Amino acid sequence: MKTKKQFGQHWLRSERVLDRIMAAAALGENDRVLEIGPGMGVLTTRLARKVPVVAVEIDRDLCTHLVKKMGSLDNFLLLQGDFLQMDVAEQLTNFPRFQQPNKVVANIPYNITGPILEQLLGDIAAPLAPAFASITLLVQKEVAERLTAKPGTKAFGAFTVRIQYLAECELICPVLAKDFSPPPKVDSAVIQLRPRPFAQVAAQPLWLDKLVRMGFSSRRKMLRKNLQSSIAGNPDENRDKIGCLLTKLGSNSEARAEDLTVSQWIELSNILGQEEICASPET
Ligand code: SAH
Repeated sequence: MKTKKQFGQHWLRSERVLDRIMAAAALGENDRVLEIGPGMGVLTTRLARKVPVVAVEIDRDLCTHLVKKMGSLDNFLLLQGDFLQMDVAEQLTNFPRFQQPNKVVANIPYNITGPILEQLLGDIAAPLAPAFASITLLVQKEVAERLTAKPGTKAFGAFTVRIQYLAECELICPVLAKDFSPPPKVDSAVIQLRPRPFAQVAAQPLWLDKLVRMGFSSRRKMLRKNLQSSIAGNPDENRDKIGCLLTKLGSNSEARAEDLTVSQWIELSNILGQEEICASPET
């Protein structure tokens, strides 16, 4: 079938990668899967052999094909539409067998990776509840690197902190462009996100979100400089204060945004957040 560029269609054709995805998803008899963008159904077929799968596909022509191919399977339910616009829970009201999928397994369209992640995880201020047990996705290699980045590396950015706050992110395996037909311009990777039971929570999630964006606003500058206006008071004094605080948190006063672990970001926002509250009547 001809692929449509606007829907980011690239069919996965590597058995090896499909095996790795299935192994990572580790489906057991009580699991129910949500798949976004089943395409020709190569992954869907494997998933439906194990557990009930609800798949959301935007392309009507593909839906016709999928219904022909898999429509009679008990384990397969197809929802036609745009995942980003769809209330999946509502669509499942009349299908008890498929309700409340607890795992996501998908080779998604790369052009809407960010919005899909937000839909699947929520954001710092409002994490999705109940959370998925795991989310196994094929994404663009560069996105996989940013999601799984370690502090102190170039790939570690505001996006990393925001997603790693919400979920543990693991790289499962690299995937080459030639593993798809037609091959995309970029290499890819399978990743798995496991939303956290929150061991450490930001006292003011919105403030953490704001602070992270501010901190990474100018990556070459020291963090104390980027954050000097985040709290009330004299910027010069604030720089010293923040430098001191960074040392106390086990980092150092000259640290840059990418040097802090997610846990240090949370502590920093909790402490500076109190400052902000104390200082806010004057500002
Ligand atoms: N999972 C298949 C296809 C991946 S290509 C495979 O591995 O071979 C991405 C798929 O997502 C395509 O089928 C495309 O039509 C679908 N898609 C694109 N945008 C979508 C959207 N907003 N909602 C649901 N599906 C979408």
